[in-house]
Amino acid sequence: MANNKQKRFLLTEDEIPTHWYNIQADMVNKPMPPLNPATKEPLKPEDLYPIFSEELSRQELNMTDAWIEIPEEVREYYKYYRSTPLVRAYGLEKALGTPAHIYFKNESVSPIGSHKINSALAQAYYCKKEGVTNITTETGAGQWGAALSYAAKVFGLEAAVYQVKISYEQKPYRRSIMQTFGAQVTPSPSMSTRAGKDILTKTPNHQGSLGTAISEAIELARTTPNCKYTLGSVLSHVTLHQTVIGLEAEKQMAMAGEYPDIVIGCFGGGSNFGGIAFPFMRHNILEGKKTRFIAAEPASCPKLTKGKFMYDFGDEAGYTPLLPMFSLGHKFAPANIHAGGLRYHGAGVIVSQLLKDNLMEAVDIKQLDTFKAGCLFAQSEGIIPAPESCHAIAATINEALKCKESGEEKVILFNLSGHGLIDMASYDQYLAGNLVNYELSDEEITQSIEKN
Ligand SMILES: *Cc1c(COP(=O)(O)O)cnc(C)c1O
Repeated sequence: MANNKQKRFLLTEDEIPTHWYNIQADMVNKPMPPLNPATKEPLKPEDLYPIFSEELSRQELNMTDAWIEIPEEVREYYKYYRSTPLVRAYGLEKALGTPAHIYFKNESVSPIGSHKINSALAQAYYCKKEGVTNITTETGAGQWGAALSYAAKVFGLEAAVYQVKISYEQKPYRRSIMQTFGAQVTPSPSMSTRAGKDILTKTPNHQGSLGTAISEAIELARTTPNCKYTLGSVLSHVTLHQTVIGLEAEKQMAMAGEYPDIVIGCFGGGSNFGGIAFPFMRHNILEGKKTRFIAAEPASCPKLTKGKFMYDFGDEAGYTPLLPMFSLGHKFAPANIHAGGLRYHGAGVIVSQLLKDNLMEAVDIKQLDTFKAGCLFAQSEGIIPAPESCHAIAATINEALKCKESGEEKVILFNLSGHGLIDMASYDQYLAGNLVNYELSDEEITQSIEKN
């Protein structure tokens, strides 16, 4: 073992991965294909070209190449913040009194404070290379919008971002960040698209959801020349780009002389979870390793633990292809929890298939437990985590406390997907005792699924 008190493990610039890992190539049961909603025919990459960059469309449906080269230009920008540190959480271990070895991968050190930039740079790059001039997208808490706004600027593109209205109001500084990077930001639902108008006519005080914002952004992409739509989560190519996290972590864990028994990520659409998990899951699939993988989702938006595996739309208006996924139904309107990035009705198709095949697990966490975990982490490790990341921390604490009971020295790795310094209004409300737990009854879930 290396120096056994080492706190942080970093890679040199030439050790930054040169390829992303495409788990679809190694999956025994491949994800079922996305379907054209009108004909119910499986989609081919060409069918996605009107909305997405062509290279991203090919990556989305690539079932054969396990390794996809990271373009040189993207790697140049990865160097601005990668490698991100792998950190041994001695402080948290001590606070919990656990024999477990807890590690976290700190994606919060990126220029915009979360993992989202790993895919934003790739998506903006491919759009630019294909002659696109404008890109549009949705954002919840604003992490993805901020990442895309920065990436668009770096590669010389105009960005238009639809931000979920509740988050636009709760997180004004994320809007400022997007605007600082030169993006145009609109709260969703808005009157600027047909989809937005329809939603507001039916529900005038609709708070917005990722589903409404996606509908608006896709509509803008369809009706604007030379404009492509980009997505910050859920899709397989987004998770592909995020595997840079787990590939680095694999090398860094080796530097620490350890290998994880459990890998944990918070779960919105699956990109940071898949990003840290898939490179390790590869060894489960190919070499029979027995690492457990746990996705931590909010109890108020429990698509993995309580949703149904079905073909569903990715957006509220039904503009996207039909995707085979665990879903709460595309009309599901999540409660106004502060983890804006986790308020999405469905799960990515890869993760959905892996969960169906029992290659991973999922847990749901209540809002108050997430902030309690976040405060303990801040006090013991000195980093204030994003409300989304608090879900992964809460799940990690639960596993570490089980180790305390059993006396097992398990190695737990979780992804710190982002910092919470722009989310302090949410912490204020938690500290003032104003936050509540939102739980859904089985009936509410069934009703939402049946609305499909
Ligand atoms: C967007 C976001 C998430 C959730 O998205 P995934 O695609 O599931 O990773 C989690 N954490 C942070 C900080 C985010 O910005």
